[in-house]
Amino acid sequence: MESRKIRVRFAPSPTGLLHVGNARTALYNWLFARRMGGDFLLRIEDTDQERSESRYEKQLIEDLRWLGLDWDEGPNEFDAGEKGAYGPYRQSKRLEIYAEHTERLLAEDKAYRCFCTAAELEEERRQDIAAHRPQVYSGKCRILSKPSIHHNLATGKPYAVRLKIEDRPIRFHDMVRGTLEFAPETVSDPILVRSAAGGASAGVPVYNYVVTVDDALMKITHVIRGDDHISNTPKQVAIYEAFGWAVPEFAHLSTILGADRERLSKRHGATSISSFHEMGYLPEAMVNYLALLGWGAEDGKTETFTPGALIQAFSLDRVTPSPAIFDFEKLNWLNRHYIKQVDPARLTALAWDYFKEQMPEKEEASEAVQVWFLHLIELFAPSVNHLDLLTAKAAFIFGFDPEIARADPENAAILAVDSARVVLTELADHVRAHTGAVLPADFSKWMSEIKAATGVKGKELFHPVRIAITGSHSGPEFDKLIPLIEQGAALNIDVPGIRERVERFVGV
Ligand code: GLU
Repeated sequence: MESRKIRVRFAPSPTGLLHVGNARTALYNWLFARRMGGDFLLRIEDTDQERSESRYEKQLIEDLRWLGLDWDEGPNEFDAGEKGAYGPYRQSKRLEIYAEHTERLLAEDKAYRCFCTAAELEEERRQDIAAHRPQVYSGKCRILSKPSIHHNLATGKPYAVRLKIEDRPIRFHDMVRGTLEFAPETVSDPILVRSAAGGASAGVPVYNYVVTVDDALMKITHVIRGDDHISNTPKQVAIYEAFGWAVPEFAHLSTILGADRERLSKRHGATSISSFHEMGYLPEAMVNYLALLGWGAEDGKTETFTPGALIQAFSLDRVTPSPAIFDFEKLNWLNRHYIKQVDPARLTALAWDYFKEQMPEKEEASEAVQVWFLHLIELFAPSVNHLDLLTAKAAFIFGFDPEIARADPENAAILAVDSARVVLTELADHVRAHTGAVLPADFSKWMSEIKAATGVKGKELFHPVRIAITGSHSGPEFDKLIPLIEQGAALNIDVPGIRERVERFVGV
């Protein structure tokens, strides 16, 4: 047998945002192609003119690029053109190809025109239901005489085109599920081209038909997609067979469920790739997590994989047919893992976007401000699941409202104790007596002196001080915080220094 180059495709419809289920489909196709030295194609299934929007296509391309899933053929990444020898790669540009193929099937008697009206079909269905029969098209138009067909065509009667299904089971091999078999009546004589309301010509070709024509003409060897398409596959196999085309291998990926085992939806939280991007998940964490949604490493335990390691490790044999549960905690864990490894320049650039209100434009910031910002982010990044949470975590660095801090019930309870008042009065004295920037060593000395002078120690000592400086009784260690605050205060950004904070809070 001629050995064919492995070619796979991701074929999204640009009718909405790319969500995690389809992104995983794209990823598995990409990994398989890269692992096997094959081609990965991107094809835009935009025959649904009403629901397809170019903004979704743009977003989709951006999301794939962000995830690092590059394609060998398909729409160009940066302009409206395309690359590859099997185009066009947008179905809306392939209508003539489908029409030619329909003519061929009709000429070879593999398909026929069905002139049944919607009302007639409805009546058939009603009778099937009443007789407790499966709802299968009767095949009435299969046996129309040539003169009746000519008459119908001459009088402009609208028609659909249906495939003649042969009376034998339809089988195909699924790499995840094994061999699947369907009785011919489950497929009936499927419509390939819908009837056009106006009548003059046949109407819009249906998904099952165009996807098959495209996959065959684009020489796709493996169709990897969601298991919601399993029931479509026998129809597609019948179309391959009618054309005499080689049937590809299939791999239907399991459904993704939420923790409650319901189909993953917005109810469970973010589901679109662009929202994970906006929330500050790193693409390498996303790719790593999506890979684990239905696939596992050979050793049964490795969970962190860079994209390169995934390519080496990936195989369709290890894809499971059972549903995958989307676990936000695990994604967060992976994201934290990758945040810790991001190089400083990239971390600064990524985090800057979330500090538009507090920071000048990155391009306008001095070297010193950029270095300071990196220190800020390095201090807080290990404690966030995703980068958009940095803004809230680090907000107090840019100042806080003493009244709001005092009103917080936990703070209020800490401040209500007599010793807290004493400690804060002492703190104010030390701040007043100090000149120049406060160093961590100065601060430690103050704390020892306050402790000696007041006899207050531990939490009773540190919590009121922390509230006065940060607005909260918990947070990063003072040794890191003090220099960050003082260096920030010395720069041309809006960061109050230690003295100013204590002045505002206690009054000096
Ligand atoms: N446009 C279809 C979808 O997004 C493609 C399915 C397939 O891969 O065949 O579900």
